[in-house]
Amino acid sequence: MDWQAFPRWGRKVADWAAAYHGGLRDRPVRAPLDPGATLRALPAAPPEAPEPMETIWQDFERIVMPGITHWQHPRFFAYFNSNAAPASVLAEYLAATIAPQCMLWQTSPAATEMETRMMEWLAQAVGLPTGFHGVIQDSASSATLAAVLTMRERALGWAGNAQGLPGQKHLRIYCSSEVHSSIDRAIWVAGIGQDNLVKLPVQGPLRAMDAFALERAIEQDKAEGVVPAGIVACTGATGMGACDNVAAICEVARKHGLYVHVDAAWAGSAMLCPEFRELWTGVEQADSVVFNPHKWMGAQFDCSAHFVRAPEDLTRTLAIQPEYLRTHGADGVIDYSEWSIPLGRRFRALKLWFLIRAHGLEGLRGMIRNHVAWSRALCERLRDAPGIEIVTEPVLSLFTFRLSGEDAETRTLALLQRINDDGRIYLTQTKVDGQLVIRFQAGQFCAEARDFDTAFDTITELAGKV
Ligand SMILES: *Cc1c(COP(=O)(O)O)cnc(C)c1O
Repeated sequence: MDWQAFPRWGRKVADWAAAYHGGLRDRPVRAPLDPGATLRALPAAPPEAPEPMETIWQDFERIVMPGITHWQHPRFFAYFNSNAAPASVLAEYLAATIAPQCMLWQTSPAATEMETRMMEWLAQAVGLPTGFHGVIQDSASSATLAAVLTMRERALGWAGNAQGLPGQKHLRIYCSSEVHSSIDRAIWVAGIGQDNLVKLPVQGPLRAMDAFALERAIEQDKAEGVVPAGIVACTGATGMGACDNVAAICEVARKHGLYVHVDAAWAGSAMLCPEFRELWTGVEQADSVVFNPHKWMGAQFDCSAHFVRAPEDLTRTLAIQPEYLRTHGADGVIDYSEWSIPLGRRFRALKLWFLIRAHGLEGLRGMIRNHVAWSRALCERLRDAPGIEIVTEPVLSLFTFRLSGEDAETRTLALLQRINDDGRIYLTQTKVDGQLVIRFQAGQFCAEARDFDTAFDTITELAGKV
């Protein structure tokens, strides 16, 4: 395989891609679960001799595709979507072809400067005030880890990286019981320890962190000589979409000099629409915010937008400049590798540029508004269906439901399994106050109103059978 043969295969892949997307509605959303099937189909040892592309291509269709769960399926209503709008896929194709490594400004000035501009575009698009500076991370988990490390270093007077953690002050970080597991892992990796992540109770329909409980916990820790380092707030948590009162949390934080990081990995894209911004009221006071354009906005995975108010705190935590990474003679440029944990960086800004220009903010808002409206309409239809109980009301496009009556938990789980084996739609579960519920969320770029009708038919038809 060489670049001479590339155009023929490239065209083949492009044709295949369009046909794949065109035919997605006819495929079951979730791969049939058959542990070991792919492994058995792959030879135990690598080939010694080159193989023709034709054979590799056939094996791709024969071995790989049957084991794929179709994340771009219009009826993928599980987890949160991880979108790949065609314009962003084209940009990824180009980025893969040029394959620049964008760790420093000089290792591709256009990539760095476009990243700066795209993050400015995104900040405006979601209504963040000037004063936030953005960087593209691979994932919200990485952004949150960077935020937790910054909290740690600030609270330790920047001594943690230099001296290690033994003998340092005893730190604590606060969040609600609803936050994503990436917060726990950031706490582990930062060496702060699960026991020092204080999970506060939630209240109200949005299951927001109890700000009074937060303040009491901080004061009690201080009285005991423990040092509060920061707070992780959530806007649109993964389970049922919990949203903290960011303004109330920032007020407590300000009083105690604490860092606030807002995890809006999923819901952040919805902030393109001004009418949803009340869900993160107060966000302008946070120290950092993360959301994933690869989730609901349509940017090909991976693309996580991380905004910080004080980049100097972030780079003081993460930057390291051995001689071989210095750029001599170019002062004042940004080296984004100093803003993130990995040194190497892909050219991710390109897909945002393609995506935002190809659809315009109005196009993207229209897509998100449709998902929210169709999801809410589905929730109302299900509320009226016999035997189905809405457990949490829609937060944007996410709501939860279960079967009512006897043995509700067992039958709800049985329903979920039937739905996913059926293949017309794909849903996942969570727990709300200890009870198992089924999540419904919508966010696939190409979803249409008829897909929500199929969801209603599938759920009600199969609910009658468990
Ligand atoms: C998806 C999600 C994450 C994790 O995002 P990654 O980019 O996969 O690390 C974190 N928090 C919330 C609320 C999420 O929905």
